[in-house]
Amino acid sequence: MVKLFNTLTRKIEEFKPISEGKVGLYECGPTVYQYAHIGNLRTYIFGDVLRRVLEFNGYQVKEVMNITDVGHLTSDQDSGEDKLEKEAKKVGESAWELSQKYTAAFVEDLKKLNILLPEIMPKATDHIPEQLGLIQKLELKGFTYQTTDGIYFDTSKLKDYGKLARLNLSGQQAGARVEENLEKRSQHDFALWKFSKPDEARQMEWDSPWGTGFPGWHIECSAMSTMYLGQPFDIHTGGIDHIPVHHTNEIAQSEAAYGKSLANYFLHGEFLVWNEAKMGKSAGNIFTLSQLSEQGYDSLSFRYLSLTAHYRSKLNFSLYSLQAAQNALTSLRQTVSSWPAPTEVNREFEKKFKEKINHDLDTPGSLALVWELVGSSLPDEIKAATLFRFDEVLGLNLLQSQVNIDLATQKLINEREEARDRKDFAKADLIRSQITNLGYILRDTEAGPKWFKTRD
Ligand code: AMP
Ligand code: ZN
Repeated sequence: MVKLFNTLTRKIEEFKPISEGKVGLYECGPTVYQYAHIGNLRTYIFGDVLRRVLEFNGYQVKEVMNITDVGHLTSDQDSGEDKLEKEAKKVGESAWELSQKYTAAFVEDLKKLNILLPEIMPKATDHIPEQLGLIQKLELKGFTYQTTDGIYFDTSKLKDYGKLARLNLSGQQAGARVEENLEKRSQHDFALWKFSKPDEARQMEWDSPWGTGFPGWHIECSAMSTMYLGQPFDIHTGGIDHIPVHHTNEIAQSEAAYGKSLANYFLHGEFLVWNEAKMGKSAGNIFTLSQLSEQGYDSLSFRYLSLTAHYRSKLNFSLYSLQAAQNALTSLRQTVSSWPAPTEVNREFEKKFKEKINHDLDTPGSLALVWELVGSSLPDEIKAATLFRFDEVLGLNLLQSQVNIDLATQKLINEREEARDRKDFAKADLIRSQITNLGYILRDTEAGPKWFKTRD
């Protein structure tokens, strides 16, 4: 039985799928105007662990992750510029090329983190007709109004608007910020469609029944989740910043249009924090995965670090903690490489692991169990089989540490042994560095040389 903390109820609930044995999972994906930072990636590691846990429990998961390649404005208040067009202007590239480049870079990051790729990764710009259709549906039902700059959703028409975030709507006027858009009836109303300005040369714009323009940021997720997963679907995920605005507005649009809930479970991941602040592009305190690699950190060390914190807790990032994670992972790989081929899974450890991970994805508890297993008195071949079973969820690619070495490297290892026997240590060291360059680390043990892989 999988238990998950549902933001809708603020409780840990038993997960019950809509169709037996199947799960529809929608994850809010990246806005592809820049490289993802490791804060964003923490959220996708959480989504990946969720998917793997569901699969570990025998569910067939259909996972959809959108790519926002238009319409995400620099402010949540529907003012400011489109992030993609702004960046394109800044660097002098086309918005279309830019989004392609950063989508490809994002997929590479997912692969490096051993995140299983979602079955469907739909782009907002490929689904403009579906978004227009949804806005028309909302218009017909009386949930929209037009202002000089676009079509807006009238949140006062929906009686439970803001339920996910438990927004206190009665206090909204007193607490309202100075609105830049005076035509908005409430500060919570949000754009469904924005008109291109007459004096603005946009690269991405489309005709619509109301005028040329582009979609508001939230409508893509409502349109695409329903298209690929139906409504309601099972689980919707994202970072906690999505609770008050993006997911609240997705719920409003979808539930107003179809008169039924959008999704049964909403799960939100906490922030990665660096130097006391949320890691973010606007704050400028970011690291990308490539920057970490350039400094000699393995991407999977960042995955390990992410697993050390529960997804609903803040994770304080530092290079020091990343190094500690890298050391732990290296030590785990070394240990695994010295084990013989796996045989049978130890059922008791497997049961304990399942209990932990099924309890709202307790990854820190599961990692503790990894070390308990490693230090146990079980035979190594059983430890290996059990650890590889855990790794189906943890995704640390531990099986790779045990792969057989290729013939050429084996030959080098033999030559190095011969050089050592001759006490030609200069030659032995030279060969060792050749082996390192091939992606293996050698360890001399009483039983002869052992090796493990440092990269895939
Ligand atoms: P964006 O590309 O801005 O739409 O963000 C992509 C995802 O990253 C969203 O689910 C955000 O909630 C999440 N996110 C943004 N900043 C952080 C952070 N510092 N830590 C964890 N997740 C984050
Ligand atoms: Zn979304």
